[in-house]
Amino acid sequence: RLVIPSTSFANSTRKDRSGGMDNVINLDQGDPTMYGRFWRQMGDRTTIIIPGWQSISYFSDPTSICWFLEPEFAKEVVRLHNVVGNAVTEGRHIVVGTGSSQLILAALYALSNHDAPQPISVVSAIPYYSSYPSMADYQKSGLYKWAGDAYTFDKDGPYIEMVTSPNNPDGHTRQSVVNRNQGLLVHDLAYYWPQYTPISFASDYDLTLFTVSKSTGHAGMRIGWALVKDREIAKKMTKFIELNTIGVSKDSQLRAAKVLKTVSDSCEEENSQGGQESFFKYSYKMMEQRWKLLRAAVDSGDLFSLPEFSSGFCNFLNQESKTQPAFAWLKCEGDIEDCESFLRGHKILTRSGKQFGASPKYVRISMLDTDDNFMQFIDRLSIIQN
Ligand code: PMP
Repeated sequence: RLVIPSTSFANSTRKDRSGGMDNVINLDQGDPTMYGRFWRQMGDRTTIIIPGWQSISYFSDPTSICWFLEPEFAKEVVRLHNVVGNAVTEGRHIVVGTGSSQLILAALYALSNHDAPQPISVVSAIPYYSSYPSMADYQKSGLYKWAGDAYTFDKDGPYIEMVTSPNNPDGHTRQSVVNRNQGLLVHDLAYYWPQYTPISFASDYDLTLFTVSKSTGHAGMRIGWALVKDREIAKKMTKFIELNTIGVSKDSQLRAAKVLKTVSDSCEEENSQGGQESFFKYSYKMMEQRWKLLRAAVDSGDLFSLPEFSSGFCNFLNQESKTQPAFAWLKCEGDIEDCESFLRGHKILTRSGKQFGASPKYVRISMLDTDDNFMQFIDRLSIIQN
């Protein structure tokens, strides 16, 4: 059986865990190293061998709109969405990207009108994913331009709204907020997986982004995918990636295909006799445990607070399930105005609310780091409070 964390870190005592108050705990980035344990336990089930003569060509499938999309990867994307039930894939074009980061840029390129006299506005509701503003503006494109908070956006004409659900940084489920008929929506569903939120419906939007980084934890593979309804938009996104990197690493796509296959297999095998726990059940339990420890640490004093979430029925887990986001959106209560500096003073590195367009009373904390770092963080939070 897979070793779940209850036997490893949660039962250890503070004394067992090295670190004290001296070392720096960096939970600024959302590096999903926590899933390493699961994949180690899967042993060779995800190992692939690529001989030197394989995957030499630029091309993967000349008949597909996305001509560099590996058919094996596309097949496993469709299968995983069918197994989990989090997205409709029928009638969709799949565009693969070097992470969903590249697909965000490809989407902005594809949705903007290249003949327009002014760049199209790109907005997202506060608190928004901290990379959107810089991604939109770092090349000072004439095609699109960051225009800030979607709640206060009131410019006439077309716009692009990034809808992140569940949201990074605060974990809430979201819908578009501008709600005007000239809006072009990009649904960034990086966290719409059962370990983070109940899967209550199959998403069915025009342009939806997913990534292995937050679903299976393979951020280093740099693979994301878009499900795109409109053929012309899929073509333009493909063109962007052609101009940018002439395709996406085949080695990574083949490795991603094997990882997704192993996840789907683990879900289908779970119920059969002697089957191990599926990846999602395992990761759900791990997140559940981490959120329990974090809430207990936060509730032990008055310095901090966390958002509350209601539970819902998860069609995949077939039970009521909780929202347990990949990030904690922690608020410093009382007169601490700058939560990031306050925690930095205690050698905990987090990302300030300011970077998400929100108040500096908030910080974002990664919940996906290693057991060691996470437990040291919990210990330190308790010490600060007491
Ligand atoms: N969208 C959101 C909301 C994210 O949180 C991230 C990763 N932090 C990304 C996109 C990009 O992920 P990647 O490029 O690793 O697929």
